[in-house]
Amino acid sequence: MKITLMKKLSLVIVCAILTAIVITSILSNFAVNRNFKKYLIDEQSTKINNVLTMINQLYNSQSDIAKINTDEIQRYAELQELYIEIRNSDNKILYSSGDSYLKHQSMMGNMMGNTMNNFSGMNISDYTENKYSLIIANKSSGTIIIGYYGSSFLSSNSLTFLAALNHAFVLSAAIAAIFGFIISIIISKQISKPLVKVTKTSNEISSGNLSARSSIRSNTKEIMALSDSINHLGETLQDQDMLRKKLSSDMAHELRTPLTTLKTHVEAFMDGVWEPTNERFQIFYDEIDRLTKMINNLYSLSKLEQAGSNLNKSKFNISEELEKIIDTFEPLYMKENYTIVSKIAPNISIFMDKDHFKQIMNNLLSNSFKYLNPNGYAEISLLEENKNIVIKVRDNGIGIPKNDLPFIFERFYRSDLSRSKDTGGSGIGLTLVKAFVEANGGKIYASSELGKYTKFKIEFYQNHMLTRN
Ligand code: ADP
Repeated sequence: MKITLMKKLSLVIVCAILTAIVITSILSNFAVNRNFKKYLIDEQSTKINNVLTMINQLYNSQSDIAKINTDEIQRYAELQELYIEIRNSDNKILYSSGDSYLKHQSMMGNMMGNTMNNFSGMNISDYTENKYSLIIANKSSGTIIIGYYGSSFLSSNSLTFLAALNHAFVLSAAIAAIFGFIISIIISKQISKPLVKVTKTSNEISSGNLSARSSIRSNTKEIMALSDSINHLGETLQDQDMLRKKLSSDMAHELRTPLTTLKTHVEAFMDGVWEPTNERFQIFYDEIDRLTKMINNLYSLSKLEQAGSNLNKSKFNISEELEKIIDTFEPLYMKENYTIVSKIAPNISIFMDKDHFKQIMNNLLSNSFKYLNPNGYAEISLLEENKNIVIKVRDNGIGIPKNDLPFIFERFYRSDLSRSKDTGGSGIGLTLVKAFVEANGGKIYASSELGKYTKFKIEFYQNHMLTRN
């Protein structure tokens, strides 16, 4: 069964509060019981000591026992709810307080003290009787018997006090439970309300409204983090969507140009307007080549997601491999009067996917070539720095505008500058480069100054055990 966060939080908080109340009530009840019982026992023994002192003083003050006025003893006995009996040494009763008032008291105690019965573990109907010596002229001259019911032990005042205490416990528990319930509703609302809003935003985004953003304010760190990350997700999706739309129109444009050229040329051949010459076939070839490259890039892009999982790593001599790649580019550069310079430290071994490496270098070098100006040059260096294998590609081409630099690794991103140079790119090359570099555990950085230079630096962290021959 699924319940809302608010209900769940309220339930948990209320349960926690109730448990805390029950535990505190039990503990405090227990502590009060213990101390109160001790207090009552002390009080009782003081009471008995007082009566003994009073009786002894009374019997010592009169030489004729018959003349002793026992009214005071009677008053005391009734007041303190004690049974008092005095016997002489022949065990003859000299005085007895009687017990009619005690029985009445005991009954009353039973009536009002049911809740108290278990209090301090005493049964109030228990009758206790103790014997003490009657001391006259420092001589034991008889016995004083003092008895009391449990109800006397717990005087009616004490019972009232205990009942009040227990009521206070119940009342405070009820008040705390009500407050707890109100607070739990407030707190759970505070937490669940922004979450409901964030969920609404996320649903809006998932149903296609990519501009939906969450504007909640909360002082809960995790909720704000969730809201920020949903907003970030929305922004990323919106950017991706924008780039995808841009690509569709770019691709349509890029594909239409070579196809139109091919179509018009073929029509001219068919109508007999043009003779098929080698030069004209070369134009065909260049256009078809451009189309093929574009389709290859698109194919590579579709495989981008698998870059990390489909690695075919091996150990190879990266210095030699890089020389070979540069060699293949050299004629192309020379044809355009560009210079290509290589500064390659010999015999460096690397452990990575060789095809990925080739694709990385091909994309970087063809980019430099595409964006060079007349008399341009590209410089490729390979070196070991600390534990890193570092590859740098630098050219003095058109450069990348500062605003475009953070986006050049994004899919389908092309600067307007490169667009106007009509290089036939599709904004996929660098996306692939970055994905392949990272899939092989490396990092890539780009820096550029408009109209001056563009530099790419790739670092592969290598364990020397693996890389050294
Ligand atoms: P493209 O196919 O358009 O070259 P890339 O992903 O390879 O796509 O590059 C993205 C953009 O980065 C390019 O459109 C261009 O604006 C810029 N760029 C990449 N390399 C260079 C470079 N060497 N010189 C200048 N601009 C570059």
